[in-house]
Amino acid sequence: MSSDATDREAADALRAGQLVILPTETVYGLAADAASPDAVAAIFEAKGRPRFNPLIAHVADAVEAERIGVFDDRARALAAAFWPGPLTLVVPVRDRDRVCDLARAGLDSVAIRVPGHRRARDVIAAFGGPVVAPSANRSGRPSPTTYADAVEETGSSAAAAIDGGDCAVGVESTVVSVLDGRVALLRPGAVTRAEIEALVGPVDTAGEGHRSPGRLTLHYAPDAPVRIEAMQALDGEILLGFGPGSGEARWSLSPTGDLREAAANLFRHLREADREHPVGIAVAPVPDHGLGEAINDRLRRAAGFVG
Ligand code: AMP
Ligand code: MG
Repeated sequence: MSSDATDREAADALRAGQLVILPTETVYGLAADAASPDAVAAIFEAKGRPRFNPLIAHVADAVEAERIGVFDDRARALAAAFWPGPLTLVVPVRDRDRVCDLARAGLDSVAIRVPGHRRARDVIAAFGGPVVAPSANRSGRPSPTTYADAVEETGSSAAAAIDGGDCAVGVESTVVSVLDGRVALLRPGAVTRAEIEALVGPVDTAGEGHRSPGRLTLHYAPDAPVRIEAMQALDGEILLGFGPGSGEARWSLSPTGDLREAAANLFRHLREADREHPVGIAVAPVPDHGLGEAINDRLRRAAGFVG
């Protein structure tokens, strides 16, 4: 693997059908040419990801997005407000070749986003087409938010890797569908429900599963069992605290109770705690408003609760 590759080396690897570890502002991605069924198959293989779970096409700008998907007024408004940034829009597919069937899991819709991380956009622009880039972890595990964690997870499958520093956001993008005139929240994420509703009015919360294939019950999970809404650690557990009350906790998602900081720390702290092979990881309650909705979604799945 060529580590700390240049944009050009990364783009060349993508053109050759190889995989690239790509920093984004949400989590590190494992990237491939979205048009190439072989390259996309290599992603599913490297991650051990079930093939019914479609991938997000990452593009350099909204012009490229409109080449591959069909945007109505509300999809355009959301794109204009939040791109580049951590919002994924699921819209009807326009070009079935630029994002191949396997990448879309055979659906008539396509998930698209313009990442906020400059290196990601530069590599995609140098490559010249959409790139699928699911999180660079093996399927079911916590997402990598540092370069070292990404390389540890999937470096052996990548031809090149780019070190873009720690991920500023730390949780995955919000996934919103705009289909048949209806806006639905398929996955809570870094852009909050309130921010979306301020722009387009009330959104449906998907009956998950069928509307957003691939949202599995046990996901984002470290090796140690995760216990959520914990007031204190039991024998042999490591406690991840949140807020001023968590002074005795070994790690805190945010000592001051800041949800942005907690999101940025979430997967890193889960991984750090897991490295100590505790009996379990107990996580203090995190409020459910704003970014807390995404944090609690990830924590419930890490704990194996139905979403
Ligand atoms: P990730 O696992 O972070 O790569 O995110 C992909 C997410 O987007 C998964 O939750 C998918 O279910 C969702 N997704 C991707 N494409 C579609 C689509 N066409 N329709 C509905 N959800 C999609
Ligand atoms: Mg993932």
